[in-house]
Amino acid sequence: MRVSVIGCGHLGIPHAAAMAHLGHQVIGVDTDPSKISALNSGQAPIYEAGLSDLLAKHTASGDLKFTLSLQEAAESADVHFLAVGTPIDSDGRSYDTGQVFGAVRELAPHLTRPCTIMGKSTVTVGTTKRLTELVQRLAPAGDAVDVVWNPEFLREGHAIDDTLRPDRIIAGVTSDRAERTVREVYGPIIDSGVPLFVMTPETAELTKGAANTFLGLKISYINAVADMCTAAGADVAQLVEALGIDPRIGHGGMRPGIGYGGGCLPKDVRAFTASAAQLGVDHAETLLLAAEAVNDRRPQDAVQLVAAALDRNLSGAKIAMLGAAFKAGTNDVRESPALAVAGLLHQRGARVTVHDPVAIPTASRRHPELEYSNHIADAVIDADVLVIGTEWPQYQEINPEALAHLAASPTAVDFRNILDRDRWTAAGWTVHSVGRPTTARVERHA
Ligand code: NAD
Repeated sequence: MRVSVIGCGHLGIPHAAAMAHLGHQVIGVDTDPSKISALNSGQAPIYEAGLSDLLAKHTASGDLKFTLSLQEAAESADVHFLAVGTPIDSDGRSYDTGQVFGAVRELAPHLTRPCTIMGKSTVTVGTTKRLTELVQRLAPAGDAVDVVWNPEFLREGHAIDDTLRPDRIIAGVTSDRAERTVREVYGPIIDSGVPLFVMTPETAELTKGAANTFLGLKISYINAVADMCTAAGADVAQLVEALGIDPRIGHGGMRPGIGYGGGCLPKDVRAFTASAAQLGVDHAETLLLAAEAVNDRRPQDAVQLVAAALDRNLSGAKIAMLGAAFKAGTNDVRESPALAVAGLLHQRGARVTVHDPVAIPTASRRHPELEYSNHIADAVIDADVLVIGTEWPQYQEINPEALAHLAASPTAVDFRNILDRDRWTAAGWTVHSVGRPTTARVERHA
């Protein structure tokens, strides 16, 4: 099929590459000229495993191209995926749907033949209905244009894999014709056994919000329980193992730490909470506000933990922050908890050097006041404390013996609970974790 992907960001670029991989002719559209020229030369402006290879292959074959022109997209495609951003509005609660309505307002006058708009962005319930009215007013093809809501569930860091092998496909449709288009465009994925859930657009919109909000609730729940473990001298890691074995609870998302971040979860929880209020479901709002409150205090609490771990004043202390990305596998630093903590430590007078395997360029644009190092060892030289801020697997491979000699004090604060504490303490480190008793360094006697 001939498809367009409107909005080439963390969702749109992997989606465009994956659609080309499925055999479609794909045209990606964005308003950012530098992005379009990088993408047309096969270069990915975001980091995702497997993305560069797919981009290079399909831009070279001509199956995948990028443009600044929505008119060109309208002329060349029959299915238009909408993958533009829905950041949080200036009120701090609801979505700013300006990009969604802006793109459709510009696209619609060029829709002169039957086609389908498939919204993938995360939006407030009721958006598909409003977009349908707009399209019918502006598109010459009128009601021959279907508007479908097809929310995306990919996880950054696994974007290509999740797009080609999703848990499920959701189709919020109002006609059999629209459902047939969804079945056709995702044909190879559905044929491989991935379940398709066909529902109304309103149910589709709410399903996406409910999914991300549930993940936020789960993370806040286990973080609150981790704090109870700290207060009681218990071990949250052992608790999680035993808790998650119950299939009704599960281990997924049960990782205590410094809270959820990224370009989706924080805003989606806020907007879903606002929807609950707008829909008049006050008890849902109360429940969700509590989850947000737990998450909001996480960075400040993390700074307290670092301050308590130091055997000197925070002001003037040298801190090695390992990790800037909001999670492993991506260079996305939007609402990154690791960077939030690094920024707060800097504000309290600490000298913070940040390491990250891929996110230093994106992080240094947002936090130019911090220092950055491409090498873990350089960041740790003379550090008073080493902090694990992102759960990159390479941090588990660090040799603690070698680093102990470089640091001013062999003290680690592991906000992701990924370090092998026995190994680190045997190498002379004191390791502070989230919701676990501190393990003290083994004193070595000559
Ligand atoms: P993003 O900010 O990375 O990308 C959005 C892109 O849209 C930008 O490149 C921007 O320049 C472009 N854009 C804006 N207006 C445009 C227009 N009129 N025409 C063409 N392009 C335009 O955002 P993202 O992280 O990719 O998220 C996009 C949407 O997908 C959001 O609603 C988000 O909640 C949802 N989502 C994201 C993910 C994820 O992992 N990032 C997962 C699921 C859902």
